[in-house]
Amino acid sequence: MSKNNEDFLKSVISHAKEYGFVFPSSEIYDGLAAVYDYGQLGSELKNNLKTYWWKTMVQMNENIIGIDSAIFMHPKTWKASGHVDGFNDPMVDNKDSKKRYRADQLLEDKIERYRKDKKDDRADKLQADLDKAIQEDDLTALGNLIEEHQIACPVSGTRNWTDVRQFNLMFSTQMGATSEGAEKVYLRPESAQGIFLNYLNVQKTGRMKIPFGIAQIGKAFRNEVIARQFIIRMREFEQMELQFFVRPGTEMEWYEKWKELRLKWHLAMGGPKENYRFHDHVKPAHYANAAVDIEYKFPFGYREIEGIHSRTDFDLKQHMEFSGKKLQYFDPEIKQSYIPYVVETSIGLDRCFLSVFGHALTHEDLSTEDKKDSRVVLKLHPCLAPIKAAVLPLTRKDGLPEKARELMNKLKLDFSMQYDERDSIGKRYRRQDAIGTPLCITVDHQSLEDNTVTIRHRDSMEQERVALEEVERIIQEKTDWKNLLKAFLD
Ligand code: ATP
Repeated sequence: MSKNNEDFLKSVISHAKEYGFVFPSSEIYDGLAAVYDYGQLGSELKNNLKTYWWKTMVQMNENIIGIDSAIFMHPKTWKASGHVDGFNDPMVDNKDSKKRYRADQLLEDKIERYRKDKKDDRADKLQADLDKAIQEDDLTALGNLIEEHQIACPVSGTRNWTDVRQFNLMFSTQMGATSEGAEKVYLRPESAQGIFLNYLNVQKTGRMKIPFGIAQIGKAFRNEVIARQFIIRMREFEQMELQFFVRPGTEMEWYEKWKELRLKWHLAMGGPKENYRFHDHVKPAHYANAAVDIEYKFPFGYREIEGIHSRTDFDLKQHMEFSGKKLQYFDPEIKQSYIPYVVETSIGLDRCFLSVFGHALTHEDLSTEDKKDSRVVLKLHPCLAPIKAAVLPLTRKDGLPEKARELMNKLKLDFSMQYDERDSIGKRYRRQDAIGTPLCITVDHQSLEDNTVTIRHRDSMEQERVALEEVERIIQEKTDWKNLLKAFLD
């Protein structure tokens, strides 16, 4: 597979499904649009990404603590945050196909098509017009651009569009026993508000001094108008967010610092530098005085994977007003009370998963003059690999499985392991390559005689003979979190 063709997503989706990383949700009922389940290996990889984030953001920063707030929050939360009135996407329907699209995305797609066709002038002009329309919240202008650039519905092929309208992305449900007494509550569209509502509790009980941060990992829900590109745009997804509280006036310094740190975090996992870029927001959201996205270059184009926003004191101020509770901080250093400013880093775990998984998925041609051969190998950073090592008895007889089980029982106390005795050893190596296992340990007849085993390395495919008592140390060294974390020591 070439990493530069449009089949990239197809091959990622099929590999993710075939090996138990990601499944369409409710598949036996034909699936549920833009909802996905992580399978046995996907959930391990996802957990490892969470661990990496939690270790670098919470455990390694003495002034950042982590929480786990509820998905349901008091409905006033979303009034105060501006989501009830302002969390909208501009949407347009095609009257023939009855399909609904995000107007800005139809225009973005057109820009990409112009660029592909080498019509850069047209692309630049449309980009400028689109930015202006978005900046001015001008829905009529968006509609006019769709008409002017003769954008047709991909399904019906017609240009029979409705006006562009706003569409709120929050899911709501009822809380309470009876329909009359029930209260409308929302599924949170971001985890950040759970942090703001706990700001005072955490600051007081943790005796936190500004600057300090509150981090959390959790689900968020958005009724996306169009769901596409696999786990890039889901209706239920997971975020890893940090709200970092600072003294007003120092926010831009912290904003720059967090930009740099967050990019470093992505790069440490092994992706090439040229696949990442910063993209400044033309129009930061209503709450922000600066905003940038970290974008990742997928084979189908750049996509945002993380947002970094300088949120001012907007959120705490709003919650103070709506709740009537004081959310100020007394700064002993300057002997003043103020509402802290906030710098947020918000990464989508699922998009991060796709960037890491997609980059790691490699098709290697191993053909020689005499023989055609190839393999699929998932070159994940060893710390992130779902399975750290596999124990493989060469045959199913002569006491080899017993010897291998003994080793397996010892190693599984410390590592995520797999035991496999089915099929030829070559096939088993390939299966482990395909799921990204850094090391395979083969127990053979010689092992019975001299207590040595073969260790095969995933990326080089090299094999070495080592003493049985060395195996634990070798796996430990290869997959030690410190390999990834040491770059983040002060
Ligand atoms: P987009 O412009 O792509 O809709 P956004 O700017 O609304 O994204 P944020 O509100 O900044 O996104 O959310 C922070 C992160 O959460 C994003 O960088 C992204 O990785 C992730 N995210 C947002 N929406 C989704 C979604 N529908 N599915 C998966 N991840 C998402």
